[in-house]
Amino acid sequence: MKTRTLAVGLLLAACALASDNTRAVLKPGTLAEPWLTGGPNCLSVPDWQVHEYNDDFYILRESGCINAEKPFLYLIFGEDKALLEDTGVAYDTPDHTVIPTAPFIMDLLAKWAKRKNHAPVSLVVIHSHSHGDHTAADPQFKALPNVQFVAATPEEIQKASGIKTWPTDLGQIDLGKRIIDIIPIPGHDVASIALYDRVTGNLMTGDSLYPGRLYVPEAQIGTYAASAKRMVDFVNAHPVAHVLGTHIEQGSQSYFDYPRGTKYQPKEHVLELSRAHVFELNEAFVKMNGKPVKMVYPDFAVVPRVANTTMPADVQAGDGMGLQPGVLPTGWRTGGPNCLTIPDWQIKEYNEDFYILRQSGCINPEKPFLYLIIGDQKALLEDTGVGTLMPDGTRGTVIPTAPVIMDILAKWAARKKHAPVSLIVIHSHGHNDHTAADPQFQALPNVQFIAAKPDEIQKAAGIAKWPTDIGHIDLGGRVVDVIPFPGHQEASIALYDRLTGNLMTGDSLYPGLLTVEDLPVFTASAQRLADFASEHPVAHVLGTHIEQKALPYLDFGRGTIYQRDEAPLELTRAHVFELNAAFISLHGTMNVVAMPDFTLVPRGTPDTAYPASLRPPAAKPN
Ligand SMILES: [Zn+2]
Ligand SMILES: [Zn+2]
Ligand SMILES: [Zn+2]
Repeated sequence: MKTRTLAVGLLLAACALASDNTRAVLKPGTLAEPWLTGGPNCLSVPDWQVHEYNDDFYILRESGCINAEKPFLYLIFGEDKALLEDTGVAYDTPDHTVIPTAPFIMDLLAKWAKRKNHAPVSLVVIHSHSHGDHTAADPQFKALPNVQFVAATPEEIQKASGIKTWPTDLGQIDLGKRIIDIIPIPGHDVASIALYDRVTGNLMTGDSLYPGRLYVPEAQIGTYAASAKRMVDFVNAHPVAHVLGTHIEQGSQSYFDYPRGTKYQPKEHVLELSRAHVFELNEAFVKMNGKPVKMVYPDFAVVPRVANTTMPADVQAGDGMGLQPGVLPTGWRTGGPNCLTIPDWQIKEYNEDFYILRQSGCINPEKPFLYLIIGDQKALLEDTGVGTLMPDGTRGTVIPTAPVIMDILAKWAARKKHAPVSLIVIHSHGHNDHTAADPQFQALPNVQFIAAKPDEIQKAAGIAKWPTDIGHIDLGGRVVDVIPFPGHQEASIALYDRLTGNLMTGDSLYPGLLTVEDLPVFTASAQRLADFASEHPVAHVLGTHIEQKALPYLDFGRGTIYQRDEAPLELTRAHVFELNAAFISLHGTMNVVAMPDFTLVPRGTPDTAYPASLRPPAAKPN
């Protein structure tokens, strides 16, 4: 047995080495929430909102009271130079006055140097692209001494950053112990670029990828598509903490954007998109296949426009796709610091017919999520939870789960003055952290119990052929699609609720460590889920655990009971494409693959965290 252990050890060492190539030792930062927009009272909105992502990386937003475009600017400091991306917008008035931007930026540079007790740094000005809402204060900077001004033309960018061939090569700007990569991404504009900061791992994508309407001139669809593909290649080779664009037009609700010209956006989407959205952007262009069709996605829309025609002043790409809205619960408690104050169950409403439950980490560090979806005649419960973790590591007593669920259903009926509904129990898969309270439900009358076995699921959901066909469960005015998703486990499924557009992905896709049991089978499932997401509106992707920290590429490691600052539960439609791309990148050989929001790990890997140096000490099961 000794030799076998050694072999496994070597294998794991090989995994760790391979993942070193993509290991993200990125300087962390925080993102502002919320950003100021343009109102409700313009007297109280400052011209600039300056947010420090960290002390060498500033994000600025220009007020919506100046111009409804309210663009974002980026100011990044190196040892010798600071780089400013974009110079902002002019007033939305007939005279197009520009506010004093250069003095404001130079003041930030002076304050930075003073606070850090650092010699003054010189400034490089570059642009995400040439449009007027990003270049309006250019003359102010050109007039300054000691400013390297890079005009928003391909030739000037190429010269300044040493790009050999535009747009297929990359350039670099060295700020002094900080390299910014320049990635030509023409399409929205001839001079569109993305900036990649190697220190933070932030990818600045300008108007080419942001939460809002990505305009593409019809004649440039092919160019933009090629740029999206090159961005995919880039993020496949570099760790990406956040994708940061230059506007927010999206609302917090999926598939909804504020009409063009909206100054005040009280329920705005966050600024940051994720690495996953680069894959989703690419998927949009693949689907467009060169044709000028509008693609409306949860977090952005691609909007083709005919050149030299005026755009309607109040253009809007998406109004929610008719999906029933809901609120993503925040503030989940995990398991501590004091277990006496943590309830066994936390029950939160996405909306009045869609409940999300979490079992306490004080019962078991798995702290799984359960979903309860209610239709006119039936309710569907996904999973029954986990048993108490015993001191010897085994699972013991199961806490009362069935009474909690039946109580919710009774209260739901009373509150809605609705006839009682019967219950169907189904499972994300067959692992015992999701099935422990099964006997409690099997013992109840009027409960349709679907065992976590492919043939049982197939029968109950009418799946013609496992795993390539899709089944349905009708709850009465609410159909839930059942998508076979083997790979983590043989009976893994995803559930798709057509009313909310929520896609429940179980242990196959959640913010944490995704265990791959059967690589070829999981790879095929990931492709089928991507095909499904490509054809259906997906509001949110909801899994059954959280192991990820709120910082990219970091997880708590398995078995952590108390998780301070854990990542949110929800992933996006974009992550379905990122998952698929991750499997494709493995080329059939299992390895640890770390993404910002999840990590693929082979079954049997010891508690995997990433990177190891920043990992909290592993919690002993007790
Ligand atoms: Zn713009
Ligand atoms: Zn599992
Ligand atoms: Zn699980």
